[in-house]
This record gives sequence, C-alpha cells and structure tokens, in this order.
Amino acid sequence: MNVGFIGLGRMGRPMASNLCRKGFRLLVNDVNPAAMDELAQLQAKPCATIPELVADADVVITMLPDASVVKSVLTMADGVFAHAKSGVTILDMSTIDPDTTDALATEAQRRGLGFVDAPVGRLASHADRGESLFMVGAELADFERIKPLLDAMGSTVHHCGPPGSGTRTKLVNNFLAVSSCQMNAEALSLSQRFGLDLGKTLEVLYGTTAVNGQLKIAWPSKVLVGDTAPGFTIDLAHKDLTLIVDAANAARVPMPMAAAAREAFSVARARGFGGQDFSAMVDVACDLAGIDKPRL
Ligand code: NAD
Repeated sequence: MNVGFIGLGRMGRPMASNLCRKGFRLLVNDVNPAAMDELAQLQAKPCATIPELVADADVVITMLPDASVVKSVLTMADGVFAHAKSGVTILDMSTIDPDTTDALATEAQRRGLGFVDAPVGRLASHADRGESLFMVGAELADFERIKPLLDAMGSTVHHCGPPGSGTRTKLVNNFLAVSSCQMNAEALSLSQRFGLDLGKTLEVLYGTTAVNGQLKIAWPSKVLVGDTAPGFTIDLAHKDLTLIVDAANAARVPMPMAAAAREAFSVARARGFGGQDFSAMVDVACDLAGIDKPRL
C-alpha cells in the first residue's frame, strides 16, 4: 500500500515515522521543507506538491492544524480531491469541526473516494512511541482498509460509527481532557498560595476522586518538572475548545464549563503562552496570581 502523508508537525512526524519503520511506502508533504527531511532519512519520498503525492497514493492521510487548512488541502484546484484516482481512501486525522468533516465526507463519496475521520487521542509522547488512541468514523469497508495503518501508528483503535463519528467523539473527549487543565491549574495555584508541599498535595489528589489523567499522567513529566515545550500547544487547545463551544451551541447543548475554559485559554494566549504546552496553564494561573510556579 502506498501512503501519502500531508502535515508533518508535532504529531504527523512521529506518526509517519512509525508507518515507515513498519514497512509502509510513504510519500510525504509539508509546507515546511525541513519537516520532510527527517522522513526522507526513513526512505519516505518527499513530494513538493500535492498532485505529485496523490498520483501514487492508495491512501492519503492528513494531519493538519485546523479545518481551514484541511479543507484547502483537500478541495483546492491543486488539492487531493482533484487529483486522487477513484478508489483512493482519504484519512483525516486532524481535529476539526463536525460540519467540515461531514461536508468533506459527502464530497469524497460524490467523487468515488473513501473518507475516514480518525482524530487522535492521548499525548504527543504517546505518538512518538506508537501508542496513540484513534477515534474512527468510517464505513466498514474503509475502516478495514485503513486499520493496518492505525495499528502501525497506535495501540488502541475505536470504530465509533459512520463518517463524522470520530470527529464528534474527539470533541467530547477533548472537552474533558483540555478543560481539566484549567481546573488543575486553579487547584495548584491555590495550593501554592496556601504554601502547601506540592509532592504531598499531589499524593492526596492521586488518592481521591479529584484525580484526572492530566494531573496524574501528563503533568508530572511536563510542566511540573519545568518542561513547557509542546506537546500540544495552548493555541491548539484553544482551537479545540472553540470547536466544542461552537458545536455545542449548534446542537443547543449548554456547556458553561467549556465556555469558561475556552476563555481561560484566551487569557493564556493574550499573555503570550500560546506556543507553550497546554500543561503550562498552571504557569498562567500562577502568573495571574503573582505566585511561584509549582515545580517538583
Ligand atoms: P503542528 O502545528 O505541530 O503541525 C502541523 C503541520 O502541518 C506543520 O508541520 C505545518 O507545517 C503543516 N502544514 C500547515 N499547513 C499545511 C499545508 N497547507 N500543507 C501541508 N502542510 C501544512 O500541529 P500538531 O500538534 O501536529 O497537530 C496536528 C493536528 O492534530 C491538529 O488538528 C491538532 O489539534 C491535532 N492533535 C494534536 C495533538 C498533540 O498533542 N499535538 C494530539 C491530538 C490531536
């Protein structure tokens, strides 16, 4: 199977690398030529243009920042839809809004192309180790076709339903995963102000129902040891919360916590933290309160 891979950023780079290492033939594209160099060392073929990549691909994967970029790469005159042979499967793994996913799936089907949405759960460090979780929206035949690729990039695959189900599941997941960062940030800034011992406070939280994956799994090896390199940026987390608030509004589902968390991330961006890992929300909270950042 020839696999075209577009978008070699913090997530796309390790995902494409894992496909190469597990024997798939890769054609890669990114607007940043340096991003393609690393993959070329693993025998992937760098393609300067999308038509060049699509010409030989059986499956085209997109791992791009947001809906406007995904839409443009798929639908522009020199994009994937215009050049893909009939029967090609498009696998969008970016986090985007459900309406765009639905429109792209409909257009792909009209052109005789398969379309799968498979956004990615867990952290960038899991993607590095090939331990990502995928939430897949696909017709069964398309799911079976791309399953070996997902197995090569991750360790957990959930078929959530027809196209669009992966994207919708991802928004439900990211509401909890991202907004819990703001809850953790407020809790730890309060414990800092109280002068509590950080290690002891965490030990208590890990033993009660206060615990969550960000606090227990992600933060001890990121912000709490002073590593705020992304990971997943505050900018991307803000984008996801905006997708969640907008999708909830469209569905007439009130989500006041999501709206509050989104605005907390707006504050973080406004204060210049947008490029840092989303665990650095605790540094933002401490900055606002004028207290020391918590470090183990
Ligand atoms: P990133 O910004 O690190 O990477 C995006 C890549 O896309 C960059 O290399 C950029 O040069 C490339 N790109 C942008 N426009 C392009 C175009 N027109 N053509 C080709 N390449 C283009 O982002 P990321 O962290 O890798 O995230 C990618 C997606 O995955 C986002 O939708 C994000 O929300 C989602 N996601 C990220 C994480 C994470 O932990 N980083 C986890 C799960 C999901």
